[in-house]
Amino acid sequence: MGASLFDDASLRLERALKYVTLAEDTIEHLKYPKACLQVSIPVRMDNGALRIFQGYRVRYDDTRGPAKGGVRYHPGVSLDEVTSLAFWMTFKCAALDLPFGGGKGGITVDPKQLSKMELERLTRGYIDAIADFIGPDVDILAPDVYTNATIMGWMMDQYGIIQRRIVPAVVTGKPLALGGSVGRETATATGAFHTIETLMPKFDRRPEDTTVAIQGFGNAGAMLAELLFRAGYRVVAVSDSRGAIYAPGGLDVPSIRQHKAESRHMKAVYCKGTVCELVAANHITNEELLELEVDLLIPAALENQITAENAPRVRAKWIFEVANGPVTSAADGILNDRGVHVVPDILTNAGGVTVSYFEWVQNRSGLYWTIEEVEARLRDRMVRETNAIWEVAQREAIDLRTAAYVHALLRLSDAIQVKGTRDYYTQSLG
Ligand code: GLU
Repeated sequence: MGASLFDDASLRLERALKYVTLAEDTIEHLKYPKACLQVSIPVRMDNGALRIFQGYRVRYDDTRGPAKGGVRYHPGVSLDEVTSLAFWMTFKCAALDLPFGGGKGGITVDPKQLSKMELERLTRGYIDAIADFIGPDVDILAPDVYTNATIMGWMMDQYGIIQRRIVPAVVTGKPLALGGSVGRETATATGAFHTIETLMPKFDRRPEDTTVAIQGFGNAGAMLAELLFRAGYRVVAVSDSRGAIYAPGGLDVPSIRQHKAESRHMKAVYCKGTVCELVAANHITNEELLELEVDLLIPAALENQITAENAPRVRAKWIFEVANGPVTSAADGILNDRGVHVVPDILTNAGGVTVSYFEWVQNRSGLYWTIEEVEARLRDRMVRETNAIWEVAQREAIDLRTAAYVHALLRLSDAIQVKGTRDYYTQSLG
């Protein structure tokens, strides 16, 4: 059995610790998740049978505020994965200066195999099982892989039934009609776009000279492809779980999105109005997409996509991690040596949780913002924190991932250390 995902995630922390002087207490504190809950969720299936699903919620750290993080529905969900994702959320929220700690949840299930009513019963069952563990001041849920606004709406509703009051701030990413925020649906992609647009000029790169390959055509990947396309980048390859399409001259991203929305299939098409025509493109695998000769490679699907095995063959110059954990720590070293810049998940995909924070603020104040306010605040924060991380990287001569961890660690240690450290308790009063 290989090293666990969490062991791999912790290596990032160890690397960053070389560049900051922290009290031992902080390091000790950040090594372990604060609380892990595993639950069995009984669900009555449509055919009358009873099935039990495994669900998890991990609160990694809440020194800076209530835990915050999504809930994933996927066959690969395990306690190890959820713990790693909660660890990443801790650093992501600190890197963006959100007043939250890190949490994550998940259910081991292939949601595509369930009917809509089974999915609703599973979701409500999950909330029944974890209700005492969450809350708007304790741990706040959100969407992640294969969960969406509808599912968040069911979660909020079920929590409200249990509490016998309406508590919208217990979950973010809700439908607008139930207290969601405008701009949340597109926030991860928009945040990633601002990070790209902030960093590329530092390398004297202009959109029209930049080719892009994107792995994953879900909410974040597809929207980001469109934003980059509209800004003049040449998007040459995109993929979904079934495979990738590649056209060196560039793809018409809006047409591909339109066609996929109508047919559920990803094809290289050009659409005029409602009429779509196939255009020339190569069909390649998801693995081949990762090795294309492009400027920007954007893994926007799942973790562990670029490993020690394929990292030597990656030809991109920049990797922007829109998925959580797509590059392993062993691959990090190889890519670094080869001069590939990896812009880490805890910065690149932080737009999602940033607008989640805005949604939580709006729910608690009862005053709802316009799209212009949400977008301006998101842009300000992404640009500010991207620049701050870039400066740490320049100052310490370190890669952007380590810089992002250093940046987050300083904020986390401030919060941990003001509660008292060994030095504080052992100092004499006189
Ligand atoms: N699941 C997203 C993430 O990994 C969003 C979390 C949130 O909005 O709380 O960042």
